[in-house]
Order: sequence, then structure tokens, then C-alpha cells
Amino acid sequence: PKFVYAFAEANKDMKDLLGGKGANLGEMTRLGLPVPPGFTITTEACLAYLADRDFPAGLSDEVSEQLAALEKSMGKTLGDAADPLLVSVRSGAKFSMPGMMETVLNVGLNDESVHGLVSQSGDERFAFDSYRRLIQMFGKTVLGIDGEHFEDAIDEAKRVKGVTNDLDLDAEDLKQLVEVFKKVVLEHAGRPFPQPPREQMDLAVRAVFDSWNTPRAVIYRRQERIPSDLGTAVNIVAMVFGNLGMDSGTGVAFTRDPASGAQGIYGDYLQNAQGEDVVAGIRNTVPLRDLEQIDKRVYDELLRIMQTLEEHYRDLCDIEFTVERGKLWMLQTRVGKRTAAAAFRIATQLVDQGLIDMNEALNRVTGAQLAQLMFPRFDEKASGRRKIAQGMNASPGAAVGKVVFDSYTAVKWSRSGEKVILVRRETNPDDLNGMIAASGILTSRGGKTSHAAVVARGMGKTCVCGAEELDVNTKERVFRAPHGVTVHEGDVISIDGATGEVFLGEVPVVDSPVVRYFEGELDPEEAGDLVKAVHRVIGHADGVRRMAVRTNADTPEDALRARRFGAQGIGLCRTEHMFLGERRSLVEQLILADTDEERERQLGELLPLQRQDFVELLEAMDGLPVTIRLLDPPLHEFLPDITELSVRVAVAESRGEARENDLRLLQAVHKLHEQNPMLGLRGVRLGVVIPGLFQMQARAILEAAALRIRAGAVPRVEIMVPLVANVQEFETVKQDIIQVAREVREAESTHLEFLIGTMIELPRAALTADQIAEAAEFFSFGTNDLTQTTWGFSRDDVEAAFFSAYLERGIFGISPFESIDRDGVGELVRIAAEKGRAQRSGLKLGVCGEHGGDPDSVHFFNEVGLDYVSCSPFRVPVARLEAGRATL
Ligand code: ADP
Ligand code: MG
Ligand code: MG
Repeated sequence: PKFVYAFAEANKDMKDLLGGKGANLGEMTRLGLPVPPGFTITTEACLAYLADRDFPAGLSDEVSEQLAALEKSMGKTLGDAADPLLVSVRSGAKFSMPGMMETVLNVGLNDESVHGLVSQSGDERFAFDSYRRLIQMFGKTVLGIDGEHFEDAIDEAKRVKGVTNDLDLDAEDLKQLVEVFKKVVLEHAGRPFPQPPREQMDLAVRAVFDSWNTPRAVIYRRQERIPSDLGTAVNIVAMVFGNLGMDSGTGVAFTRDPASGAQGIYGDYLQNAQGEDVVAGIRNTVPLRDLEQIDKRVYDELLRIMQTLEEHYRDLCDIEFTVERGKLWMLQTRVGKRTAAAAFRIATQLVDQGLIDMNEALNRVTGAQLAQLMFPRFDEKASGRRKIAQGMNASPGAAVGKVVFDSYTAVKWSRSGEKVILVRRETNPDDLNGMIAASGILTSRGGKTSHAAVVARGMGKTCVCGAEELDVNTKERVFRAPHGVTVHEGDVISIDGATGEVFLGEVPVVDSPVVRYFEGELDPEEAGDLVKAVHRVIGHADGVRRMAVRTNADTPEDALRARRFGAQGIGLCRTEHMFLGERRSLVEQLILADTDEERERQLGELLPLQRQDFVELLEAMDGLPVTIRLLDPPLHEFLPDITELSVRVAVAESRGEARENDLRLLQAVHKLHEQNPMLGLRGVRLGVVIPGLFQMQARAILEAAALRIRAGAVPRVEIMVPLVANVQEFETVKQDIIQVAREVREAESTHLEFLIGTMIELPRAALTADQIAEAAEFFSFGTNDLTQTTWGFSRDDVEAAFFSAYLERGIFGISPFESIDRDGVGELVRIAAEKGRAQRSGLKLGVCGEHGGDPDSVHFFNEVGLDYVSCSPFRVPVARLEAGRATL
């Protein structure tokens, strides 16, 4: 294969082979922008090198060829004693990994060529400053010497001279520093700083290749879900010098504000400096605007180029540039990262500028960004916000509460009604109860795959992790933040899971304007441009999507909110909550009943209560389909806790006051106690085993529908049987329901239409979907249970126990409960959809697990041809957006 490409041979679509930096340097070269000449060594060469620990055959020759061409175009030879060509050796992978990998500048300088640089530039100080920078960078990145040794030497030189600024070191000082640096290299690397220019270059290339596998790069990739087998490209670029005096300099810029999306001039500039000085923060930069005063010609050219780039990439770009004695050079560009709000604003701005169409705008935003915009947020205008630390944004939300340092206190305080923030160095499975009790979680260690982050995201709980500035002392029950801030147990803090910020005290929380818009409280025409942008983009998504979006809702309030958020029906109404609260005792009696009569009496009391629940729900969703699931959880969930009850009975017995009912209850609890309730007596099995239970529910549903019809409404009922594994189970329950329907139709003398279907949440159901579809009129994939039963682990038990270890070690890229496991669970969905449809062509297919609101999963469900996804009310807009994006 060809291992080396000149910039002129490259373009922006070659990122896989040439990395982002190389591909875009090529693109800018082809656009005729002022890019210093150079060439790129491919990622394939990197992978070959990493496999063999050596350059692949042919690479060196290709490099020599390209180097010769570069030398010819510059009219200079690499490291020439009289007039040296110098180059930078720069890493650049497909995905940007800021600060993770290495770059070496000024390659080609040595004891001789530095004098050539002196005579060519006429600036001795500049030449020796460049040389000492090379030895320093080369020593650190290629030879692995601790940077402190060099920094100490600079400090020492400044101390001897009695100055504080690097710029106050003159040519003589720098010459001496070069000698000191060479000694540092000899001492710490055990070899002299290499003089031959080509050897410098080859060693730097190897170092860049190797930097792909440094621990920090590995960790970064894992966090950002960047595959580890891509490798990095290497760019060899002719040096241009921003450190040749005050008419030179270096800077970074964005074509528009990456925080807000606003158009304008955003960037920083530093006079008389080389690239790394800007990021290193050695000296203060000036705002890019000031460049207009410093050098108007360069400034105007830069603005023209930025406009060219925006129009060419049709997107926000960020750039790195250098000015050498009044001449502008472009050193890097890429489509820039941006906040969620900026993403929506920029997408619609670009449509208005005629650069992209609405499909493209929809493509440029994500459901995750929309979800971010919907979280309640800390009031930015609140006075007295006092930020004390910055961590990682592990799980979004704005949480306020009293600081606690252990699980026990978290649970105790939250039981008494306090809001608490659990603060730990890092969390482990023992902290789970505390995490559940807390409003938010803050850790000082660990990244986005740490235990705290994974579990918090799973629970939808606000979490800031890895706030390393914090010193957490759980024994003393305090944590310390920079600037002498000490926070004790019980003090109030506020944490922002979307930004990773930590504030002292209570910061007021406000609803996001995007939610107020979805709620109908903000008119999009009169709202700010963010709401306008969201309105336009989601409207377009609605226009192009194929799948409907329904909601999971058990109450009229949730149903109405979801409807305002755009839900087109209910995909899952759980009925178990209708058996709780004051109805619990009725259920207890039902379970205890040992005669048919007694059972029927209890069911008869539950019936009108259930019916009223359904009347209200059908009213809230009038005209739209409502899928109601019959009772699913094991019965013991409705009975008292076994230990508590045992103790109560034992105490009563010892006093000779045991009540008959309690004794019977305890018996029942023992009888129903299951080793593994998830795989026990639940779902359709209850319907088969407990006479009259499902019939009562069906009757309540159908009588409610009849009442609605009589009121002139349009109820669209779908009765759903959970946890079916085989068609006979379903058929048995279905016959019972049809019998009930006959009775209700007769009694009410109405024409009552409804569907009977099932959940597909067991592998056996998926594999025999053709048989089940003979009897079922719709399938709803219960992907939570299907994930549990396919993997053979129970979510409640395993998430906190080992998921973070699995994520950390790369066994999972993401929790299969968060995003559908396409290869396993997804394959079952695909099989069931195909088999079901082959049996019954009009079979309605939906999904009601939590995956229904997960962007990646929504794309998958679109791919396998489901008719709708159903998700919690707050996820409905996210699902609408992603269902639209999935069709592009
Ligand atoms: P990173 O990926 O960390 O941004 P780069 O390869 O972009 O690393 O290099 C960092 C900085 O070094 C650049 O922003 C630029 O200022 C400077 N630099 C790199 N190559 C050259 C060059 N050929 N001439 C002048 N400066 C350069
Ligand atoms: Mg860069
Ligand atoms: Mg289920």
C-alpha cells in the first residue's frame, strides 16, 4: 500500500487513512489556502508499525521521496548547516483526541544548523530559543524524560539572571540553556541528543506512533468510545515561525461561538510565540479582535479564510494559525465541537444562510443534545453563584442538597425528608443505597466509566465525577476545595451534571425554556432563537419519520404531559400501581382468599376502582391507542416484607396476641416467597393460576371503554399480556378475555373494538413469534426483560455489582440496559419481527422498554421495521427527533 501522501494528494474525506488533521490540511491545500507544505504518513503505516515494532517495508523510501519533494519546493534541505529546512512531526488520528498524543516542533535543528538558522533569520535569540524547544520537546516526548528537569533548568537560568519572564532570557542565556538541556538528555536518557536531522525525524515519527497506546490515550478512547484499532497518522509539516518577533505570533479561532452558536469573532492570539505557548498558558493571550490593531492585513485575510472554510465545510470550524513576519499560515482546521444549544442554533442558521437543507440540519443535532437541553438547569442569572470545582459531566441534571459522606447517612437523612448529595472519593457497590437516596452524586476520582458514573446514568441520577481538585476526607466528614474552601457534612452544595460544575450553597433551579416550549408555555414564534431552532428541527423530524412515538404512562397526568410532548398514544400502561396504596388490603385479601366466593368478592371490590383508573386514562388519550398491560409483578410484591412480618408475628405471639389474619398473611408470604422472583410466578402465569384476576382487569378496561363510547369519545384499547413464552399460555388468557368482552358487549349493548396482543420479552417468545402471531394482534418488545433474560442477569443485582468493571475492561462499550445490544437482544427482536409479520401481515410492532427513548436503539428499531417506540414522557421529544434522523 501507499504509506505517504503529499498534502496536495489528500482531501477531507480521507480521515480514516490520514487522520482528521492530515485530511483537512490536504483539503485546505487544495482550496489554495496558505498551508505550509508537507505530507502525511497513513494510519495503516502506524498499525503496521505497532504490530511489528518497526517501520513497514517501503515506508522509509516513501518518506525520503516526499521529503525530497518538500525540500525542493522549499528550496532548502532538512537540517542544512547553511539554510536548514525545519519540520514539525504531528500526530493526528481520525477522531480528535485533544492533548492526548504528541507533536514535536523544530525538527532538523542541531549544533550546526542552528547557526544556519541564525544567519537566515538574522536573529540569534530566535534560533537558540527554537533549538532549546526542540531538545525539550524531543526529550519529553521521544526520549520519555520528565519535563520537570527542563523546566527546572529554565527556572534556574531565570533565577541566576534575576528575571521572571522567559522573554527576558537573551541569546547568550539560551545558548547556555541548550548546553544544559543536552546534559539533561544525556543524563536521563542515557544517550546524547541525536544530531542527524533525519534520525531526529524518524525517531519523532516512531514516538507519535507509540503515543497511540499511551495509558492516557487508551483511557480517553475508552471514555469517548473511540475504537482502539484505528491508529494515528503522522503529519510532517514545514515549520513556519510565530516566534520571530512582535510581527509574528500564533493563535486559535472559531468561525462562530461554540458555546452559543452566535456569529462573530472568537479566538485568542499571542504575539512572538510558537504554538504550544498558547495552550500552555505561559503568557496571556489577547482576544482575536485585537489582531486587527496589530496587523490589519493579516486580520482581514484570516477573516476571509474563516468565511471560506465555513462555506466550504458548511459548518462551524475551528482553526490554528501562525503569523511569520506578517505572513499568515494555516496550520489546522476541523469541524468544531459545540454545546447542545449551539448545535441547534448553528444548524438552523446554516439553513437560513442557504448552506444546508433541513435534512442536513436534522442530521447535525442529536437526541442526546436535545435531552441535555431539557434538563432543569441552574439559573445562570442567579446572584452569588460560587463555583468551587470542576469535574466531569457524568450524568446530567441539576442537584442541590446537603453533603453526606456515607451511604448510611444519605439514607437516614433522606428518609427524614432532606435532599442530600453523596460525596465520595469514588463509589463502590456498597454505596448503592446511598446513591439511590441521594439527589446527586459527586466523586473526586474516576472518569465517565467509573462506578459512580455508570450507576448514576442507569438510575437517571445527577452525577459529577472525577472532580480532582477536591480532597475528600470521609473519616473527618469534610472535603476541601481550592482557595481554602472547606465543606462539612450538612453544608449545602449544588452540582451540575451537564457541565460538571460544583457550587457552594444552593443555586436556584429553573425549567429549561425547551421544556416550557414543549409544555406549550412558550410560543415558538416569540421565544428565543434556541426554542425556535428546536421547534423547526423537531417539526422537520416529525415530517420525515416513519415510526410513531408513544409514551409509557400509568396516570392521566403523565399521559397528558406526554401528549403535549408529542406522544401519539400509550405504548405501555402498567397496572400494578393500581393495586397499591389503600387498595393494598384488598389485594392482600384477594391473595389470602381460599374460596372462590371470597376471591370473587375481593375482585368485585377492585373492579370499579380499576375501571375508574382506565376511564381517566382513556379520556387523557382520547382518540389515540392505549396499550394496557395486565398485572405483571409477582404477588409477594403486594404483601408485607417477610422479615418485618415474621418479627411482628413473633412479638405478638410471645405476648399471646397473634391475630389470625397476620398468621395467614405470614403463611401466604412464605408460600409465595421465591428464590428468584424475576423468573417466578409473574406475568401471564398469574393470569393462568389466579382465577378471575385477568378477567377482572379485562372487564374493567372494556367497561371503561364502553363508558367512554357512551360519552361520545373514541377509546382505542389494546390489551397486552406480559411475559408470554408460548402460544398456549397466551391463547388460554385470550379466550378468557374474549369471553369477558362478549359479556360486556351484551351488557352494554355497544359495538366495542379492541386488540389483544402480547409482550415479547422472553427469548422463547421471540423464537416462536410465528406461532404467537397466529393468536396475537400486536407485539410489544419488552426490551428490559428481554435483555435480562437473554443475558441471564437481573438488572437490579448486576448493574452496581460488575458493570463498571465490564465497561472499564472493554467487555461492554455501553450497558445493554442503556442501549440495545444489537447482536444478541436486537437479533431476537429482528427474528420475532420477521416471523411475526410473516405469519400475520398487519401485525403491529412496537417497543416499550427503556430502549424506546435511547437514540441508538431508536435507529435500530427503525431499521428492523417497528411501527412505534414508546418511552417515558420526557424522552418523547428525543425519540421523535431520533426517529426522524433514523430515516435520513
Ligand atoms: P495538537 O493536536 O495537540 O493541537 P498540533 O500538531 O496541532 O498538536 O501542534 C500543536 C501546535 O504546534 C499547533 O497548533 C501549531 O501552533 C504548532 N505547529 C505545529 N506544526 C507547526 C509548523 N509546521 N509550523 C509552526 N507551528 C506549528
Ligand atoms: Mg492542533
Ligand atoms: Mg417486563
